[in-house]
Amino acid sequence: MSALKGHIAARIAAVGPISLADYMALCLMHPEMGYYVTRDPLGAAGDFTTAPEISQMFGELLGLCLAQSWLDQGRPTSFALAELGPGRGTLMADILRATKGVPGFHAGAHVHLVEASPTLREKQAQSINHARVTWHDRAEDLPDLPLFLVANEFFDALPIRQFQREGEGWRERVVGLRDDRLTIGLGGPVAPADLAHRLADTRDGDIVEICAPGRAIAQEIGTRIEARGGAALIVDYGDWRSLGDTFQAVQAHAPTDPLAAPGEADLTAHVDFEALAQAAPCAHARLIPQGTLLFRLGIEARKDALARKLTGAARDSHLAAFQRLTDPAEMGRLFKVLALHPTTLQPPPGFDP
Ligand code: SAH
Repeated sequence: MSALKGHIAARIAAVGPISLADYMALCLMHPEMGYYVTRDPLGAAGDFTTAPEISQMFGELLGLCLAQSWLDQGRPTSFALAELGPGRGTLMADILRATKGVPGFHAGAHVHLVEASPTLREKQAQSINHARVTWHDRAEDLPDLPLFLVANEFFDALPIRQFQREGEGWRERVVGLRDDRLTIGLGGPVAPADLAHRLADTRDGDIVEICAPGRAIAQEIGTRIEARGGAALIVDYGDWRSLGDTFQAVQAHAPTDPLAAPGEADLTAHVDFEALAQAAPCAHARLIPQGTLLFRLGIEARKDALARKLTGAARDSHLAAFQRLTDPAEMGRLFKVLALHPTTLQPPPGFDP
């Protein structure tokens, strides 16, 4: 048994079954043994890859979207250019490179990164080149400034709880221990207030997921955007309303059992964008697929411009990356983008009110 599995098993033996949220938090962010604490999981040699790691075009276009939004909001002279869960720092590096030519943008930008993993903070320090970069453990520590923010594959890593419908109530799906093996079981009947509205669109046996930290973070960033101005671009897999078991694990680019090797596999759940939009006390644009947004922001022109400078295998892999980001059968439709913006203003370019 691995040290982290032993730690989790001991806790269950002491206090009884734990929620999926507690299990996810221990697996991903245990201060010594957590998945994100002990490694850089990204890239071909790691467990999974993400849009900014696939092509520079992703960060360039999101960066220009934020910069246009900054221009449209009257170029606030001092603002936070922020990212939640920046991984290797590639997205922020691409945003900064693409916005170099926007007069006043870099001079006013204070880069703020919310990152819990010391290992990944080091990577970010190497890749992000800007005069002012500040790291935070939590979104609530973001400064009181106009906030222009991106988050790619961040909300899917936040701990969720799962509830299974039973009659007019629910039972929580919890992680317990049987013969030294971690197993999923059902807790006693509960009726969380957060789930009252879900009695209307679920049936007996249906599973719904609640991500309390995601809601709290959406509230933090929405409060700043409403009070000080700014915009947030939240990119992730998921949909407008969560239904069903989306708890999953990935290791070496293949799906695996989320209970099999705690701390050794990436654990995620689909993002319930409706819950984020409702928790944010500001306006939001209509949720759109990643592919749609990238086309609207001009990815075809950028793809062609970059392709002209490439030949052979480099050109082929550039075109394959374009396909992967935009094709509805690849990331184009599974991934969605939610934009948050002040209620008195229009959404960022590429979005519909
Ligand atoms: N956005 C990057 C990385 C995605 S992986 C990309 O697209 O490539 C998820 C990132 O979120 C990692 O940097 C991870 O360390 C960070 N993270 C996960 N849970 C977190 C939490 N609770 N608080 C802060 N950062 C977290």
